[in-house]
Amino acid sequence: MNKKVSILIPCFNEEEGLPMLYDALCGTKGICENLKEYDFEILLINDGSKDNTLNIIKTYAEIDKRIKYISLSRNFGKECAMLSGFDYASGDCMVIMDADLQHPPTLIPEMLKYWEQGYEDVYAKRKSRGKESWLRKRLSLTYYNLLQKTSRFDILENVGDFRLLDRKCIDALQTMREKERYTKGMFAWIGFKKKEILFEQGDRLTGKSAWRFRDLLNLGIEGVTSFTTAPLRFSTIVGFIISMIAFSYMCWVLLKALIWGDPVAGYPSMMIVILFLGGIQLLSLGIIGEYLGRIFNEAKGRPVYIIGETNVDK
Ligand code: UDP
Ligand code: MG
Repeated sequence: MNKKVSILIPCFNEEEGLPMLYDALCGTKGICENLKEYDFEILLINDGSKDNTLNIIKTYAEIDKRIKYISLSRNFGKECAMLSGFDYASGDCMVIMDADLQHPPTLIPEMLKYWEQGYEDVYAKRKSRGKESWLRKRLSLTYYNLLQKTSRFDILENVGDFRLLDRKCIDALQTMREKERYTKGMFAWIGFKKKEILFEQGDRLTGKSAWRFRDLLNLGIEGVTSFTTAPLRFSTIVGFIISMIAFSYMCWVLLKALIWGDPVAGYPSMMIVILFLGGIQLLSLGIIGEYLGRIFNEAKGRPVYIIGETNVDK
């Protein structure tokens, strides 16, 4: 019997791109038509699209038995959409890719080749980051350096979600059900035998990227707070150093007053100390709050996603 490959594609407002995607996968020159030694299942997750995405997916599902879909009840975000895919995919392995064809399907045969060689997580690394501002590039570089230094495993730069996962990895990912998800870190966290391949990421062909700077910032904070407690450690250390300094200063003030007496003065130094300490306290509270917020969200124990409709039976 042929091995089964699931292709997981989260879709959010992708009506313009879907025909091209379908063509690239299932058209006469498509990957699924030309790799006869595998069975394919294309699992499209409609992540609460506001446009015609779901209807288009349904028409494809009618003409093509390989097309499976899960339509979430609202927009849960790509990370949660991917979890629903992990739950419902039935393949022996899974390829995750974007709907906008920024991840070339032509790479899939190469990924499968490495999978056959025994690699369990074949991930595609971008050769360059494409059109991006200098600031964004620098920020992301610093960010990954920081994450790297404060966690025990490799969260890689320039590696997105485009990858092939063995069944073992999918099963492992299914067990990770936190609500605030940073899937990129999870791929690193679960371990397994990894293989890197390089690819050139094109620009989005249709539609526009749904990620604004704010989303990226949020995802960034997610990444830090879900994979390292280093900021908490940092605020402890800073707090400790500052209390040491404050203590020495206190001794000095006391001694000075005892020896020379103290005609009230020193408004500037007092203001500086108050403002500085106030700032540090607020920062530390904020950091604690970030983690507390995560605990709050997890403690509610809600499901990560809700399915509106689907043609997958489980
Ligand atoms: N996506 C999603 N839910 C969202 C935002 C995006 O499922 O809330 C999907 C989107 O349809 C696409 C993939 O995630 O298939 C990557 O999104 P996008 O191309 O907007 O991100 P970028 O390539 O800029 O990182
Ligand atoms: Mg994209």
